[in-house]
Amino acid sequence: MRGKEIMVNCSSCGRKVPRNKAVSLEKGVSFSTDMHTANDVRFFEKIKLNYCISCAKHRGIFEIKKRQAERNSKRM
Ligand SMILES: [Zn+2]
Repeated sequence: MRGKEIMVNCSSCGRKVPRNKAVSLEKGVSFSTDMHTANDVRFFEKIKLNYCISCAKHRGIFEIKKRQAERNSKRM
Protein backbone atom coordinates (compact mmCIF):
# COMPACT_ATOMS: atom_id res chain seq x y z
CA MET A 1 0.00 0.00 0.00
CA ARG A 2 1.34 3.38 -0.95
CA GLY A 3 1.45 6.38 1.29
CA LYS A 4 2.57 4.53 4.34
CA GLU A 5 5.67 6.29 5.43
CA ILE A 6 8.38 4.83 7.54
CA MET A 7 9.00 7.04 10.50
CA VAL A 8 12.35 7.51 12.15
CA ASN A 9 13.23 9.26 15.36
CA CYS A 10 15.35 12.37 15.25
CA SER A 11 18.59 11.67 17.09
CA SER A 12 18.56 15.11 18.56
CA CYS A 13 15.03 16.03 19.62
CA GLY A 14 13.39 12.61 19.38
CA ARG A 15 10.65 13.83 17.13
CA LYS A 16 9.24 11.37 14.61
CA VAL A 17 10.09 12.28 11.05
CA PRO A 18 9.18 10.53 7.80
CA ARG A 19 12.30 8.76 6.63
CA ASN A 20 12.36 10.47 3.25
CA LYS A 21 12.39 13.85 5.00
CA ALA A 22 14.91 12.96 7.63
CA VAL A 23 18.53 13.93 7.19
CA SER A 24 20.71 10.94 7.77
CA LEU A 25 24.34 11.12 8.67
CA GLU A 26 26.77 8.25 8.85
CA LYS A 27 29.24 8.55 11.60
CA GLY A 28 32.20 6.34 12.33
CA VAL A 29 32.76 5.61 15.98
CA SER A 30 35.76 3.74 17.25
CA PHE A 31 35.89 1.94 20.53
CA SER A 32 39.09 1.04 22.25
CA THR A 33 40.13 -0.24 25.63
CA ASP A 34 43.31 1.86 25.33
CA MET A 35 45.45 -0.67 27.09
CA HIS A 36 48.25 -0.50 24.49
CA THR A 37 48.91 -4.20 24.81
CA ALA A 38 48.25 -7.17 22.58
CA ASN A 39 44.96 -7.54 24.36
CA ASP A 40 43.86 -4.10 23.38
CA VAL A 41 40.43 -4.31 21.88
CA ARG A 42 39.60 -1.95 19.11
CA PHE A 43 36.70 -1.88 16.83
CA PHE A 44 35.16 0.55 14.49
CA GLU A 45 31.48 0.89 13.96
CA LYS A 46 29.46 2.95 11.59
CA ILE A 47 26.33 4.32 13.08
CA LYS A 48 23.60 6.06 11.22
CA LEU A 49 21.92 9.03 12.76
CA ASN A 50 18.72 10.61 11.59
CA TYR A 51 17.84 14.21 12.17
CA CYS A 52 14.77 16.22 11.45
CA ILE A 53 15.27 19.19 9.13
CA SER A 54 15.39 21.78 11.88
CA CYS A 55 17.93 19.86 13.97
CA ALA A 56 20.01 19.20 10.87
CA LYS A 57 20.10 22.93 10.18
CA HIS A 58 20.79 23.75 13.76
CA ARG A 59 23.65 21.29 14.06
CA GLY A 60 25.22 22.06 10.71
CA ILE A 61 24.56 18.57 9.36
CA PHE A 62 24.21 19.91 5.85
CA GLU A 63 27.71 21.37 6.07
CA ILE A 64 29.10 18.08 7.36
CA LYS A 65 27.40 16.15 4.57
CA LYS A 66 28.74 18.59 2.01
CA ARG A 67 32.26 18.12 3.34
CA GLN A 68 31.83 14.33 3.35
CA ALA A 69 30.63 14.41 -0.24
CA GLU A 70 33.62 16.50 -1.28
CA ARG A 71 35.97 14.12 0.44
CA ASN A 72 34.32 11.14 -1.26
CA SER A 73 34.58 12.69 -4.69
CA LYS A 74 38.28 13.35 -4.20
CA ARG A 75 38.92 9.78 -3.15
CA MET A 76 38.06 8.34 -6.63
ZN1 LIG B 1 15.04 17.04 15.63
